[in-house]
Parts: sequence; C-alpha cells; structure tokens
Amino acid sequence: MRSTVYFSPVTGKDHAAVSSAARRLLETLLEQEDVTLENKVPLKVHFGEKGNVTYIKPQMYDGIIDLLEEKGTECCFMETNVLYTGERTTRERHTKLAREHGFTRLPVVIADGERGEDYTEVEINKKHFRTCKIAKAYGDYGQLFILAHFKGHMMAGYGGVIKQMAMGCASRGGKLAQHLNSKPFIIPFWCNQCNSCEEKCPAGAITIGRWSSIDRSKCIGCAACTAVCQTKAVQINLLSMIASLLGNSFTERVAEYAYAAQKGKKNIYMNFAIDITSQCDCVGSKMDPIIGDIGVFASTDPVAIDQACCDKLKEAGKKFTHKRLLEYAQKLGLGSRDYELVEVRGDTA
Ligand code: SF4
Ligand code: SF4
Repeated sequence: MRSTVYFSPVTGKDHAAVSSAARRLLETLLEQEDVTLENKVPLKVHFGEKGNVTYIKPQMYDGIIDLLEEKGTECCFMETNVLYTGERTTRERHTKLAREHGFTRLPVVIADGERGEDYTEVEINKKHFRTCKIAKAYGDYGQLFILAHFKGHMMAGYGGVIKQMAMGCASRGGKLAQHLNSKPFIIPFWCNQCNSCEEKCPAGAITIGRWSSIDRSKCIGCAACTAVCQTKAVQINLLSMIASLLGNSFTERVAEYAYAAQKGKKNIYMNFAIDITSQCDCVGSKMDPIIGDIGVFASTDPVAIDQACCDKLKEAGKKFTHKRLLEYAQKLGLGSRDYELVEVRGDTA
C-alpha cells in the first residue's frame, strides 16, 4: 500500500514560519486523509534535556495548537520519564524542566507516573516481546499526535516518529527492555544501604546489606531502582547492550514498542527535520546541526513519514544507514515504506 506524506520546506530560524507550515500540513492532512480528530488528543513531544539547545521549540507547535483549539480538541503536552539519572528522571523535575524550556501553553502530563511506575502491559505477541510496558496515561486516549524531532541517535540511527513513539511512550521499564532486554544489578561497593531502591521495587527483588543484590528471577525489569539510586550502585548490563546492538535486535525492539504504542489508535504523525543533530535531544549539551534544515512532514503512516525524511536527508548529501528499523517496522504492519510526497506550501514557507 502506498501512503501519502505531506511536506513543507521551511527553515527553523523563523519559529513563526515553522508554526505556520505545521498548521497548514495538519489542515491538509485532516482534509485529505481518513482521520477524524478526537475530542482529547495529547501532543507527544520531547522537552529536551537540560543544556540541549536543538530540541523543537514550543513556539513551533503554536499553529497546531491554535488549529486544535479552533476545532474544539483538548490537548496537553505528554512525555515519559527517562531511563538514566538526570533532570527528566522524575515527574516533578521533568515538569519543571519542561516549563523552563517554554512548554507553558498547555498542561504537562508525565504519562508514567512519578518515577516510571505507572504502565500498562500492551499485548503484541511479536518476535521480541509478548507484551510491552506502555506508559499508563496513553491508554486514556484513542488518538495520539506524535510530534518528533527528526535527528540521529547513538543506537537507533536517524529517525523521527517511530523512535519517538517507541521510547517516548514506554515506561522506564519499557525503555530498559528495548535497550538491552536485561535486568539491573547492584555494585555492592557503591551501595550506601539507603534502602531507597528496595522500598520502590514492586517485585520484592532487592536485598540490601553488605552484599546488596537483585534477585533476577523476581525482577520484572521496571527500572524503578535505577531512578532512585543516588550513588549509581544500580547498573544496567553494558555487555548485554553491546550484544543487542551487534545482533541487530535493538532496532527490532524499538519497532515492536512503536507497534505497541500505536496499537488500536488513529494517530497523526509529524516530523520536524530542523536543527538535525547526530544525537538525540536527551544529550544535555549544545550540538551543531549536521546539515541545513529540511522542513516539516506530516502523515498518518509512521513508517512512510520516517522513510520520507531519511530519503530527503540522503538527497541533501548525508550518508547513513536506516533501513533495518524501517524494514522491520513495515514487516510488523506498522506502515509502508512506499509513499507519495506531496509538497504543501505554507503562507510563510
Ligand atoms: S529490581 Fe527489577 S523489579 Fe525491582 S525495581 Fe529494579 S528493575 Fe524493578
Ligand atoms: S538506592 Fe542505591 S545506594 Fe540505596 S540501597 Fe539501593 S543500591 Fe544501595
């Protein structure tokens, strides 16, 4: 099946032009595609790690929000806590950072609770996962608006909405499962026996003492312990991560989580190929774009839109590989790599 991807060439230097182009793309998509806006639609965004300067700025979403409000659709900014320790590890700090980065126009909802403990097991029965841990609040909606920054990632390569859905809709445990399908362990010498992890562990898998440890047969991989440990005594298994990468299973896991996140929903997808960096917005420092801005893309097909962005990036002269994730995503039935690109010129594009 051939999908349609709508595209507006625009530069990110002018936030108002990007906002206007995004609105025009959403209008066109709603006119042309078999998709009806629901009454409540969360905007899945990325607030950017503290110190990152190339995340998609909230002003670029203004046109979309204006249109949604005109159509009577209630929305909020939605995100999940991250796996690593940082400013976005807990709901409180994450929300504060979102506000500091200018996400003030809508309510901010952290979908997986205070520390990633709120999730629903979504059944998919695929090669790597029978079920996926999707942040609980996403389950309240029949439609998500996935707004992604198209860019690189150390493990997933260049991409947009698929990775945004896979990692961004997963609870901490879901993120852990995608990264290495492994379970944390404790380095006893770094443990100060504060008991925080033991209190948070929902599986009773942790024993704290001189030889603090995790019972891997009880551990359900929720990653709550990795969020609370202040001494970094709780570690994830680097060797498993490397093996996962070499075996190509990481990208397949990402695709399966994206599949779970969109299962049963009529989503809308938008990629902002602006300030394209080699690494993701979780990097808490300034990065220089690898190439000039390309524009904004919209579609109801997550595979087609990521494929279209990758093709444009290649056209612009960037050499990289991205096929594995998209091939597997297509095989899962997430969407089609075959697409038609329709250029939509916004007023200020
Ligand atoms: S030991 Fe396992 S089950 Fe317990 S908090 Fe850590 S990841 Fe979750
Ligand atoms: S949270 Fe860290 S330091 Fe505290 S008991 Fe657990 S492993 Fe030890």
